[in-house]
Amino acid sequence: MLCKNVVSCRSGLAEHSDYLVDIANADVALWDDHTDDSLYQSVDILTAAHPHSGVGVFGELEKTMGMTWHKENLLNDLSLRPHVKPASTTMYDQMHVFLVNGLVNWELFSFIAAMKHGFQIGYKQLHDFLKPWQWPKDKVKAKVCQVFNEKREASSKEHVKAGASELLSVYQVFRHFVESIVARSGKLARETKSLLSLFRILDALQCMPRGCVSVAEFHAEVVNHMRYWQEAYPDEDHKPKHHMSVHLGKMYERHGMLWNCFVHERKHKTLKKFATTTSNTLNYEQSVSTDLLNAHVEAMSHPEAFNTGCYLVDPRAFINEIRGHRHECVCWELMQVMVIYPRVRICFRLVQYVHNLFVHAWTPPRLCKSCTNLKQIHTLGYITIT
Ligand SMILES: [Zn+2]
Repeated sequence: MLCKNVVSCRSGLAEHSDYLVDIANADVALWDDHTDDSLYQSVDILTAAHPHSGVGVFGELEKTMGMTWHKENLLNDLSLRPHVKPASTTMYDQMHVFLVNGLVNWELFSFIAAMKHGFQIGYKQLHDFLKPWQWPKDKVKAKVCQVFNEKREASSKEHVKAGASELLSVYQVFRHFVESIVARSGKLARETKSLLSLFRILDALQCMPRGCVSVAEFHAEVVNHMRYWQEAYPDEDHKPKHHMSVHLGKMYERHGMLWNCFVHERKHKTLKKFATTTSNTLNYEQSVSTDLLNAHVEAMSHPEAFNTGCYLVDPRAFINEIRGHRHECVCWELMQVMVIYPRVRICFRLVQYVHNLFVHAWTPPRLCKSCTNLKQIHTLGYITIT
């Protein structure tokens, strides 16, 4: 929607034009970006053509304009136009681009297929590899290795079927698997390069709220990934989400932040919780809505509901466990990070998401040789100890 001149690879249009660019091209300098005004002009052209055009001709015009027209469309609401800036305020959701039927789901699927072919390693072996790993939440939730169980394998036809949060939990260990087993074999070099680049993008997206990643670093990683992916899977078609991922750098630059839909998606659970347990089908909508409203009011009455800043959210038992583990060592200092930055989660088996840049910028850690945590952390290689 945001580029006037970007077309699909299959159309072949870009081959015969100096102006058109296909979605495989990540050179943003070649894109002709829509402005707020030009987007509204496109809508107006469709609105004017609609009464006189046949379905086929109008469909072609919609394709040319890159949008689907409907008379009730928000962009058709003239009273909103002074207030709504569709091109300059649109932000693609990083979660849907990468983690919800997104680039990570697809590329993991392709990578596993390549491993199956090259190493006879598939879902079962990945499941067994992940099984011993523990996350803090494993005490109350199903294990993350379920992403690769038989049921998921059967339902994963074109992409790895996994939730966005599951993928975020799995990818660090998957990276460890790739680096320690696949990369050392010397096989699947291109596929590995592309996948590790994709994982670095996930690192960067999580670093962003802490300001650890510059626009240039992020954009370069996304563009590199697109190239590596092309080299690794030359027979696969580009998805629109590949193109959207390249837009994210510009959006990050414009808005200084990339917002995501994690919070909204989490709210689905609340709806499902009440919708599945409500048996009163006479006033079903009313019952579910009342329960939802009650839950919402209760959540808002929590003393920390409107807190902002860095603080520990919903501290769990394992945190108290390591609070007593006071050493002058890197692990203790990392635990301090966890207290200051709640989204950094650390447990005895896993450092989830500690970015090199972040650790370096934070403090030069002192080592504690007797600390088993340190060995675990060091073995994983997620941080560079200076
Ligand atoms: Zn675009």
